[in-house]
Amino acid sequence: METDFQVMCPFCGEMIWQEFYPDDGRRQETVIDCEVCCNPILYRVHFDSEGEASVSAERAQ
Ligand SMILES: [Zn+2]
Repeated sequence: METDFQVMCPFCGEMIWQEFYPDDGRRQETVIDCEVCCNPILYRVHFDSEGEASVSAERAQ
């Protein structure tokens, strides 16, 4: 199962790899600082019943 996801930072536009695991929940929201520009990124992760994930990244408030 794919657990590494490449997401574009909404602050600096760099592509970042993040790991998410379905064992942590079907729907996840987590804030992780961008490793390039250090701004807080809010990741929304959704695993469907097949285990396919969709990941979005937006600016955390
Ligand atoms: Zn960034």
